[in-house]
Parts: sequence; structure tokens; C-alpha cells
Amino acid sequence: MSDSEGESGDKQDQQYYEQANYLVNYSKHLERRLRALETEKQLLDAERMRLERELQVIRSELEKLRTPPLLAGYVIEVLTDGRAIVKSSTGPQFVVQVARSLTDKISSGSKVALNQRNFALVELLPASEDPAVRAMEVEERPSVSYSDVGGLEEQIRELKEAVELPLLRPELFEQVGIEPPKGVLLYGAPGTGKTLLARAVAHETKATFVRVVGSELVRKYIGEGARLVREIFEYARKKKPTILFIDELDAIGSKRIDLATSGDREVQRTLMQLLSEMDGFNPRGDVKLAGATNRPDILDPALLRPGRFDRFIEISMPDEKARFEIFKIHARKINKKDVDFNKLAKITLDTTGADIRSICVEAGMFAIRKEKEYVTQEDFIKAVQKVMTQKAKAGSEPTHYV
Ligand code: ATP
Repeated sequence: MSDSEGESGDKQDQQYYEQANYLVNYSKHLERRLRALETEKQLLDAERMRLERELQVIRSELEKLRTPPLLAGYVIEVLTDGRAIVKSSTGPQFVVQVARSLTDKISSGSKVALNQRNFALVELLPASEDPAVRAMEVEERPSVSYSDVGGLEEQIRELKEAVELPLLRPELFEQVGIEPPKGVLLYGAPGTGKTLLARAVAHETKATFVRVVGSELVRKYIGEGARLVREIFEYARKKKPTILFIDELDAIGSKRIDLATSGDREVQRTLMQLLSEMDGFNPRGDVKLAGATNRPDILDPALLRPGRFDRFIEISMPDEKARFEIFKIHARKINKKDVDFNKLAKITLDTTGADIRSICVEAGMFAIRKEKEYVTQEDFIKAVQKVMTQKAKAGSEPTHYV
């Protein structure tokens, strides 16, 4: 092979080599591009799906806005031919067709929606919650017991006689031939433990605790007070043994000079219903009534007659010894070091059990702020100052006793 032939052969090899190199690089470039396009496609797919969902939501929202309103009504009776008699919210009763999907689901009393044009029953509506249920606070055997109540030993003794004994041993009253009291009235300043005591009695007697607030009955459920009282008593009887606790009794049971406004007449109707319920139930039965007020002086005497709230128990402001006990109760679970409850009880003149509970919580907060794991006397003293200053600023409510 001549030199020139050899040279041209090398050149060709070089060209092949460069071409092959170019092809490898180009195919790598194409692979990278393909991967980039695939990722882009995935992103676009996700975006398309997101936009489709958004479109769906907007469409259904538009649909909702375009739908004509339906009439609300109640089923009075379902007829054997598949139709139903309904009472529309506008008053009259109609015999209407029922959508096939609803025939098995409706019964008398069901709340339903009716087509406006032909009143056909097109939807079963969720039943609204009964206001009587909303007006009550119910606890099946509350967890607090007499050991959670500080001071108030005398009051506990009286409650045992007036509520616990008739519930647990009604035969004693029968043997002696006397009627136990129907209702007790707990009166005293706010935060002194009236509700706490009533819950503790329910615990000791393994009873259901039902609490209703007088002011809510007449303010929140306007026009329904009397009906609610009836239904609440019915509920209490169903759940027996029950302690039915009426807080802020003065809101429904205060003396009225005249009945000038319709609001006054409404309160009066609620009170009359309460009196008639009280008169109707058996003092030896399994429902016991407890009323609470911080204004016993304004109560209607009709409420305090024998056979009604005829046992009065004053829940007094705690004295030093009681405050000591209350501190011990509320600091029971607190991790503490060298705390002198005697001293704390001494300096907390004119505080209630509720104030002492706040003091204990505040003392704990002071310790947390300092990132300590236990509470000291200093934290308690600061908490006393804070709570007592707040109380002084708020100006304690006037308290009236009989
Ligand atoms: P109100 O008139 O405002 O309804 P009240 O007299 O019913 O007040 P409670 O609601 O029983 O007072 O008290 C509030 C909280 O204060 C209780 O849950 C309890 O933690 C605490 N407390 C009040 N009195 C005592 C007490 N004697 N012993 C222990 N804790 C008490």
C-alpha cells in the first residue's frame, strides 16, 4: 500500500469515528429531550386534570345557582298507592307524587323538599336538631364527687338529706310518713360552686345530670320556653334517676310587677309551665330538681311554696379554712415545690372557688413561662395578685341574699 493510500484510509477512519461519535451524542441528546418532553407531558396532564376539576366545581356551582328553590314541608302520611300527604311550610296540606328513589325512605314526620310547580316530593332533608336537646347540657353520671368540693360540708350534708336520701332510700320517707322536698334552691354568689355541688350529687346518686340555663330558655328560644320546659321534664323522666338543674332560675322565676311586654308574658308562660311540671311530679320519684340563683330576693314567691323549691341552701363565700381546702383540691395534680396553702388561703380574702381555680391555672402558667417543671410559692403569689387585680378591675357583681 502506497503512502497516499494509507493516508486516505486514516482520514476515512477518522470521518467514521467522528460520524459515530456525532450519532451517539445526537441519540443521547434525543433521549434527554424525550425525557424532558415526557415530564412536561405529565405536568400538562396534571394541569389539565386540575382545570377539569375546577370546571366541574364551577359548573356544579352554576347549576346550584340556577336551580329554582324547593319548598320545605313535612310528611303527614304515606299512602298505600305510593303518594304522600305533606304539609308545606306555607300551611296547606297536599297529596303529592313521591320520587321513586324516596318511597322507602320517607315516613310520617320526615322533613322533605317539594318541587315548586307540582309539589312532587323530590328530596329527603336532614332532620333539624330539636331545640330542647340544644337547650340542655346532659352528663351521664358526672365525674366530680364530694371530694372535689372544698368547704361546704354543711351544704353537702343538707343536700344528702334533701336529694340523695329520697333518691337512694325513698322507703325511709314512706315509713316515717313524710314527703321529701321536691326541689332545692342553691343560692349564693357566682363561682361559689352551686353547679359543682349539683353535679357531685348526681355523681353520688349515679344519676343523669341535666342542666338548663334559665336566661337561655327565655332569650335564645323565644316563643318556645314553655314547650321546652315540658320537653325537658319529659326527657328528665326518661333518663331517671335524674338531677334536673336549673341555673339562673331568676331569669324565668322573678317577681313581675306587670306584664307589659310580650317578652314578659313569654317569661310568665315559661314560669307557669315550670310550676305545673313541678306540681305534677312525684316527690318520691326518680327526678330531683335543683335551682340556682344569685338573686333569691327577686324570685316569685310561687316558686318557693311548699312542694316546689322548698329547701333553701345558702352557698356562702369560702372562709379561710374552705379556701385552704379548695387550693388543695385544685393544686392536687399540679407539680409543685414548697407551696404553703395556709398562707395562700390567708391572702385570698373575698375570692370564690372559681377564682382559686383560676389562681392555680395562672400559677402553672407562670412556671411554664419560666420553662420550669414545677410551680413554686412565688408563682402562686404572683397568680394571686394577677387574679385579684383582675377581679377588682372587673368589679365583683353585687350579691343579694334573702
Ligand atoms: P354561677 O353562679 O356563675 O353558675 P356557680 O356557683 O355555679 O357559679 P360553679 O360553676 O360551680 O359555680 O364553679 C365554677 C368552678 O369553680 C367549678 O367548676 C370549680 O372548679 C370551682 N369551684 C367553685 N367552688 C368550688 C368549691 N367549693 N370547691 C372546689 N372548686 C370550686
